[in-house]
Amino acid sequence: MAPSTTEPYEEIRAAVAKLCREFPGPYWRELDRERAYPEAFVAALTKAGYLGALIPEAYGGAGLTIAAAAAVLEEIQRQGCNGAACHAQMYIMGALVRHGTEAQKQAFLPDIAAGRLRLQAFGVTEPTSGTDTASLRTTAVRDGDDWVINGQKIWTSRAEHSDLMLVLARTTPIERVAKRTDGLSVFLLDMRTVSGLTVRPIRTMMNHATTEVFLADVRVPSGNVIGAEGQGFRVILSGMNAERILIAAECVGDAKWFLDRAGAYAKERVVFSRPIGRNQGVQFPIAKAYAAMRAAELMTREAAALYEAGAPCGAEANMAKLLAADAAWEAANVCVQTHGGFGFAEDFDIERKFRETRLYQVAPVSTNLILAYLAEHVLGLPRSY
Ligand SMILES: Cc1cc2nc3c(=O)[nH]c(=O)nc-3n(C[C@H](O)[C@H](O)[C@H](O)COP(=O)(O)OP(=O)(O)OC[C@H]3O[C@@H](n4cnc5c(N)ncnc54)[C@H](O)[C@@H]3O)c2cc1C
Repeated sequence: MAPSTTEPYEEIRAAVAKLCREFPGPYWRELDRERAYPEAFVAALTKAGYLGALIPEAYGGAGLTIAAAAAVLEEIQRQGCNGAACHAQMYIMGALVRHGTEAQKQAFLPDIAAGRLRLQAFGVTEPTSGTDTASLRTTAVRDGDDWVINGQKIWTSRAEHSDLMLVLARTTPIERVAKRTDGLSVFLLDMRTVSGLTVRPIRTMMNHATTEVFLADVRVPSGNVIGAEGQGFRVILSGMNAERILIAAECVGDAKWFLDRAGAYAKERVVFSRPIGRNQGVQFPIAKAYAAMRAAELMTREAAALYEAGAPCGAEANMAKLLAADAAWEAANVCVQTHGGFGFAEDFDIERKFRETRLYQVAPVSTNLILAYLAEHVLGLPRSY
């Protein structure tokens, strides 16, 4: 596939692509079969400094722009790898950067930037409350200098491969707050030392290292509250635009990988004595998916530019995530169809990537919730929930 007219951060892309070539299809296939964590891949990305891209230089990070970080993740996906194993290491620490005290930043950011500490687990979703975050049931109660957390999280990805975890818990009962989103607080848990934490893997349709986490009388020192007590919902919300933009970039990368594969196969596969790509029934869906990918790419770049300028970008970040997840899924479907039976063969990697990219219609925010956000906050329609 021809590159998009301009692909900024050419040098970063080339370096990431070179690293990714060390981790070809067979590497991912074997991990997928075993549902194993891509340790070597994550170690290589960490060593190269990519996962500390967004940490300010003052704390040992690369201090890159969100667009540069997006280029890293896009390229990983475009090369057929899967950044979901560690993408959160790039953005979860944003809560610390934006809301942490100087002491908290000094205590954690340099080690995260150097890859000595992993902060890539994020416990927000719960089994009973789902998308309705304000209804979560995990509580934290003050006891002397500590907070004591009790509750359950679900879909806490990478918890088994993280040293630290951010947890959102209710610190003031919902009946006693003016707004349902008040009274929640964010805690930084040191998973290496706390007791009362049980992590159970959940096997999913793709290799995602996701888990459920049970918290039974987990004690956290009061110095590990990130941001103001009771303002945790805002702490989490403030990181969502970055997360949406980075995930959108990954989806654009996935779409490019599928389009590369579909285009190449359509040219080389000969049926009825001609390449299948000569048939408009085969080429038009590929062309349409390409157009959708480009639109998503442009929206992702616009969202990143606004984010970098410090301008409001909630609508653009959400639209980027929506369009890119759709574009990746459309390209995935087209790629399977173009390959006929081979689209289902493990050795082609397409079915694996197909399963992996499906996630982004649901997580980290589902398509419906983005549409509800646009309807309400951009178009001024009445709130639906
Ligand atoms: C593999 C994986 C990894 C994940 N990783 C993490 C993680 O690391 N940390 C974390 O905290 N969470 C994580 N999640 C959770 C993810 O963010 C949620 O699954 C997602 O936000 C949807 O929430 P839910 O599953 O509870 O669905 P629900 O909230 O139960 O919704 C179910 C369906 O109903 C729709 N729906 C609900 N309410 C409305 C409404 N008002 N209007 C229209 N449609 C509606 C939703 O769009 C969805 O399609 C992960 C999920 C998966 C599957």
